[in-house]
Amino acid sequence: MSRGVKFAALALVAVLAGIAQQPKKVDNDALRNAAKNGDEWLTYGHDYAETHFSPLQQIDTTNVKRLGLAWTWATESPAGANVETTPLVSNGVMYGSLGWNVLFAIDARTGKYKWRWDPEIPRDKMQNRCCGPVNRGVALYNGRVYAGLLDGTVVAVDQETGRPLWRTRVTNDPDLILTSAVRVVKGKVIVGSSGAEQAVRGFFAALDAESGKEVWRFWTVPGDPSKPFEHPELKEAAKTWTGEWWKLGGGGTVWDAMAYDPDADLLYVGTGNGGPWNRNIRSPQGGDNLYLSSIIAVKPDTGKMVWYFQTTPGDTWDYTATQPMILADLTINGRSRKVLMQAPKNGFFYVLDRLTGEFISGDKFVKRLTWATGLDKKGRPIEAEGARYGTAAVTVSPGAGGAHNWAPMSFSPITGLVYIPGNESTGTYTPDLNFKFVPGYTNTGTTTGPRPPDRPAVGPPKPEGGIAQPAGAENAPDVRGGFLAAWDPVMQKDRWRLTTGVGGPTMATAGNLVFQGGKAYNAETGEKLWEIDLGGNAVTPISYMLDGKQYISMLARPQQNSRVFTFALDGNAQMPPAPPPPAGRGAKGAPPAPAKQ
Ligand code: CA
Repeated sequence: MSRGVKFAALALVAVLAGIAQQPKKVDNDALRNAAKNGDEWLTYGHDYAETHFSPLQQIDTTNVKRLGLAWTWATESPAGANVETTPLVSNGVMYGSLGWNVLFAIDARTGKYKWRWDPEIPRDKMQNRCCGPVNRGVALYNGRVYAGLLDGTVVAVDQETGRPLWRTRVTNDPDLILTSAVRVVKGKVIVGSSGAEQAVRGFFAALDAESGKEVWRFWTVPGDPSKPFEHPELKEAAKTWTGEWWKLGGGGTVWDAMAYDPDADLLYVGTGNGGPWNRNIRSPQGGDNLYLSSIIAVKPDTGKMVWYFQTTPGDTWDYTATQPMILADLTINGRSRKVLMQAPKNGFFYVLDRLTGEFISGDKFVKRLTWATGLDKKGRPIEAEGARYGTAAVTVSPGAGGAHNWAPMSFSPITGLVYIPGNESTGTYTPDLNFKFVPGYTNTGTTTGPRPPDRPAVGPPKPEGGIAQPAGAENAPDVRGGFLAAWDPVMQKDRWRLTTGVGGPTMATAGNLVFQGGKAYNAETGEKLWEIDLGGNAVTPISYMLDGKQYISMLARPQQNSRVFTFALDGNAQMPPAPPPPAGRGAKGAPPAPAKQ
């Protein structure tokens, strides 16, 4: 080899090494193509369609029994907060958020700590508020990590160092907090608000990812109609409200669900319950109260609404439509449809045309649903007689925790099934006959939630014959508790269903597996194939691949001893001792009841 050729060869090696070390950018193309990329987990739902589906198949039904611990990391999440984050993985680094919005980065091969950033949220003001100091995750884009914070700000930190670059306040209302995972769409950070139990006015907004400057904002409920509406959609919405709703806020917070269809260029968000819950207080002469408990499609460049679909008109039961949504292409009646699927709190599974908002089909995904007898042709619920409470209490199913809450469901394009972490529940709604709005407390208009000692909630006397139920409730199956349903969205029925107790988020994989908690199931049949004791705690599973090895990673949720557990085939690291099972409620140091929003 001549000297010149040798030099050229060396130079080529250097160039190739340089390419190999070039970090992969999380840009618009990477996010758009995330569904095809099993190596990384770049956004909350794995991809813009929010499938929580990993295309990796190294770990499958035949070998999942060989899963063992590769590494674990004790998060040291601050006390008093559950961890609900779905971690992200990019360039061999795992990112996420802990209790009280502490952000972290660790090595995804080893769990070795990289950086941590604590926004130092004042922790003394949260105790009377729904629903605890949680956060569901971060977004990655162009070398930055983005998060919405409990103090009403959105922060961008440097992905390498955790150093904050900008922090933008999106609300001055101390009762409006941010708990959802932000998403980045076309260079904009999309953020939604939380806290409808405080009877706030909900919104979602887009911030410029580079500067943090607000680009647009969509209020989900109309303000004072004597003043100009902030955007034209609110004029129509105001026709569906009565009384002086704006004085208490109205609700409609956007605390979880978002999805994006890049081909249609539509951003979808789910909105929350009414504030106060009790419609008799919020909108005393009735009305559907748009855009509460709705799915809204907007153009991400402008925030202009293209369509909406309201799941629970005139909500009075805390039936949010903020539950995670999934976009998929399904063949229905011989026709390929671009659909949006949601299993909101109200217990009906919806399949909508995501281009137009047209209702395609819907059916109940819980066995026990007493507030409605079904859906009409347009998908509007047919309320059961006596489902609304007036001056007396009423017991309905689902209860305020909902048939499905924050835990993500997943969709496998291989099985065509949606894996729903659901819950059979019943709740009693007792109107607060002495209701007065008190800032900083829950303001549901019912006896639910903390009230100040000098303003206790006063409910009606308990009737001798027991609390009323909607007509037909006596015929509903008497079931309670968590379940995992493998739901066929075309047929609108179960393929299989398991009773799970505490369930938690699900992830489906191309290895034909469904992960939930420390368990893996055959995605086709529901057969349990693998189980590990994580102390019975709900976890958020993700999967990624590094150096040819597939990892399954789970961030466990307890307030104490929260950990990232990462598994691989033939992993042989020592499992740490399982944390003690949660003590009974009210016991010293016991975690509070599961968060409800
Ligand atoms: Ca709520």
